[in-house]
Amino acid sequence: MISKEHIIKRFTSYVTIDTQSDPNSDTTPSTKKQWDLANKLAEELKAIGMQDVTIDDNAYIMATLPSNVSHNVPTIGFISHFDTSPDFTGANVKPQIIKNYHGGDIVLNKEENIILSPDYFEDLKQYIGQTLITTDGTTLLGADDKAGICEIISAMEYLINHPEIKHGKIRVGFTPDEEIGRGAHKFDVEKFAADWAYTMDGSQIGELEYENFNAASAVVTIKGKIVHPGYAKGKMINSMYIATEFINSLPRIETPEHTEEYQGFFHLHTINGDVEQTKLQYIIRDHDKGHFEARKEVMQKLTNELNSQYEREVITTEIKDQYFNMREKIEPVMHIVDIAEEAMKQLNIEPLIKAIRGGTDGSQLSYMGLPCPNIFAGGHNFHGRYEYVPVESMIKATEVICKIAELTALKEKTT
Ligand SMILES: [Zn+2]
Repeated sequence: MISKEHIIKRFTSYVTIDTQSDPNSDTTPSTKKQWDLANKLAEELKAIGMQDVTIDDNAYIMATLPSNVSHNVPTIGFISHFDTSPDFTGANVKPQIIKNYHGGDIVLNKEENIILSPDYFEDLKQYIGQTLITTDGTTLLGADDKAGICEIISAMEYLINHPEIKHGKIRVGFTPDEEIGRGAHKFDVEKFAADWAYTMDGSQIGELEYENFNAASAVVTIKGKIVHPGYAKGKMINSMYIATEFINSLPRIETPEHTEEYQGFFHLHTINGDVEQTKLQYIIRDHDKGHFEARKEVMQKLTNELNSQYEREVITTEIKDQYFNMREKIEPVMHIVDIAEEAMKQLNIEPLIKAIRGGTDGSQLSYMGLPCPNIFAGGHNFHGRYEYVPVESMIKATEVICKIAELTALKEKTT
């Protein structure tokens, strides 16, 4: 099977290239340095023997592994992103290899006393005896989602070297800027031309996800009236007090810190204000479409109610949909989840099927016509210095990709 050394070498060659994305940039990719890895990946895909390798003006990479069977098999795709989160630096990543993990504290950085401890990160305990890749405590690792890229390329390489494994046509797609919510934006679904795909962008081994939040953003702008405070009686309107009333009128327990699983929320993430004007920025999240719509209505109603107490309109609320729960698009083609689940079971991996409390590129792609559940890539503690990935999980993810390809080839394409 695939060797640990091979995976470590490949993964290290990716994470040592800085590909941090930037939400304040309008270009695609959002940062020039993403090209450094993108160009390398395109070359590597050619080198392992992939066909139709393309890299477009926005750094989206696509490649094909042709079918090796004569019957008609659905075309499937595997997708990952090569950018890393703007939340934490990805420059000068120095991966550390912890062989045969003993189950105790891992000193990431002696000078700065940065420790990765199972007392805090309990998930570590399931990897005793395995090989972990960690940071040196000063950067993120970038297993999100370079682990996914490493797994997809390793799986393609394995299938190319083992023609006895029968599979249909496989498409591979690598995208920039997922971490700033734009990974799917310029993804050419028509060109990709797969019947369905999987993002390899989940966390711990076994994760399989086809439900995510419905998401909207809301900007609430409150306009006050400034008057000299000594002469303000009956004249001043202090926008900050109205803002406080608005905030307190929304249910306090329907917030991220009080919710889990399928519970939705309103999340106030930014306040900027003075007497004259206060701006509140919210995100609204709910798995249930009906509840999601109701949440948006609650905000609008509250806006109208508060406005009715003043002579002029003091509050405007602008709500924008961001993405939707992919469940709606996946349920009609549930066999694509079943194949992934079956692949894991055949590899003795316990499938962990749960709803994502966030979004994925796959949810956007699903609404663009490419049904796209999400599979584990193996890493933990994304977007920070405690990020790590067990090499064994990356090998398992690679095997899952090969097994999905194999199981799909057992299906004759019907449509
Ligand atoms: Zn990711």
